[in-house]
This record gives sequence, structure tokens and C-alpha cells, in this order.
Amino acid sequence: MGENYYYYDGLKTLTSNIEGKQIVYCGVLPMAKMATGDWVRLIVYPLIFDEEIKSRGGSATAKYVFLVPDWDSDEIDPLGKNPFYLRPKGRVYKYQLDPEGCHENRALHWSSIFQEDVTIATEGHAQIDMELISASSLLSEHSFVNILRAALTEPEPIIALSEEIFGEEDPTEGRSILAGPVCRQCKYSAGEMEYIKDWDRIQYSCARCGNVQEADITEQEYWVQSEILEAAALSVIAPTLKIMRDNADNVNRDSIVSRIVNINATDHGNGLDRLVVPFVDSERGGQSIKELMEFAREWDKPHAELA
Ligand SMILES: [Zn+2]
Ligand SMILES: [Zn+2]
Repeated sequence: MGENYYYYDGLKTLTSNIEGKQIVYCGVLPMAKMATGDWVRLIVYPLIFDEEIKSRGGSATAKYVFLVPDWDSDEIDPLGKNPFYLRPKGRVYKYQLDPEGCHENRALHWSSIFQEDVTIATEGHAQIDMELISASSLLSEHSFVNILRAALTEPEPIIALSEEIFGEEDPTEGRSILAGPVCRQCKYSAGEMEYIKDWDRIQYSCARCGNVQEADITEQEYWVQSEILEAAALSVIAPTLKIMRDNADNVNRDSIVSRIVNINATDHGNGLDRLVVPFVDSERGGQSIKELMEFAREWDKPHAELA
């Protein structure tokens, strides 16, 4: 059974017990400028974790994996407070413009900046083995496609799961859509799809430009609701440890993501350990990674504030 390890004390306990290769899932990269709290979760704790296992000199090694949510989008219409009540109306991050015009798209912009920032911030530290995985690169993976297919063709059980966690609301005016193809012509995800079950193919009519496309499920691109996209990616990444933030929202997200990962899994083993890190606010911002690593060794509560 997976266990939760809290803050620095938990990290020390965890690193004193582990052996062998660890796949540490650090989370989804923000598609915006990172705040101090993001740095703490995405870089500060992985670096401390890495320092601890290296200083123990045991057999443990770790690779740190980050998800680039290029098939997610903020161009959606929410249909209620439950984050699974929604419809897509625009483009996924992979097809949104780079806000500063220096990269091909918004997903590439923020993931490149993240990598550059990490390189600068970790100067003088031992190299860490990290990998950024784009959700769109996982379409050749069986477990990813299984979850995607469920979201595209049978959303009801997933919506029911979400209602157990986020609550059920009065019926909204529109039916929730949890995933849908990206139009090959205009790159929007706003249209009607039909699943051709016998052939595992999707036919899609774009409501924006009128394009009609039909192809195998693994030959199209998609918009996918955030937690489902993360669950599909995690089914491939198969981490041994997940770093997560300590607040009710994240605990709910974590819980639905794990349940979706297991929706199609034959073995329902849940050996995933979690390193729970505090929620950090910083009014001023601008602390160096080194400073944050020192502070992080003192934090022992769900919420930390930096002056
Ligand atoms: Zn750019
Ligand atoms: Zn179109």
C-alpha cells in the first residue's frame, strides 16, 4: 500500500527506506509564469529528495518526471463547480499562440522556460535526472488510449466518480464533454464526434470551420479534461512516488486521478507513495532555490508563508 509522507520529516523517513530506481512524478507544469509555490513543489522538494538519497550512498536512484499538459486547455466553458462539468470551446495549449511569440506554441513556451529556469536555478547542484513528457506524445501507449477512449465514448462512469468526490449539482443546460478531437483544419476542439466502435475510429465534424475528419482513435489529436489527461499520462509513467501539495483541492484531484488510472487497470495495486509538501505563499517572491531549500527543511505544516 502506498503511504503519505509529510514535509521534510516525511522525506527523511522515506529516503531512509527506499532502494532501487524511483520514478518520481512531480506534477503538471503550469502553462503560465510559475509562482513560488510552484517552484517549491516542482523543483525544491525534488532537489532535496535527490540530495538526501545521494548523501545516503545507498542503491536508490531517482528520475523526476514532469507532465506538459499540451492537450489540456483553458479555453473551455465550465458548466458547474464540479471540474468534470464542462465543454471545450477553443484550442488546446499545443495550438494556442506563444504569449511572447518566441516558440511554436504556448505549451512549448512554458516548458522551454521551465527547463531554462531549472538549469539556472540548479547551477552548483549535482545534476538531476529529469524528463518532461508531453501528453500528446503518449498516444501510442495502450493504457493512455484506454483512458482516452473511456473519456471520449463512455464519460458517464467518470462523471459519476467525479460526483462522489466533487459533489453532484443540478443538471446543467449542456451535457458535459470530457474529451474531443482537435480539428485538423482550424485546430479548435468544438464540434460533434461519433465513435465507430467496430473499427475503433472517430468521426468528427468541426462546428467552427465545417471540416469533417475520420480516422483511427490513435491517428487524431485531442483535447482532454485536466484530471483525465493526467490520469492517462500517469498510467504510462507508472511512478513509484508522487509529490503533491497539501490542501483539500489537491487531495480531491489526487483521489479522482488515482481512481481514473485504475478504471481500466487489471491489477488494482496502489503502491504509489506520496510526498506531501506544504502550500507556500510568498508576497515578495524572488527567493533563490538555495534559500527555498533551506526554508523547506524547516516547514512542518500544511501552509507556509514567506515574508
Ligand atoms: Zn516563447
Ligand atoms: Zn475546424
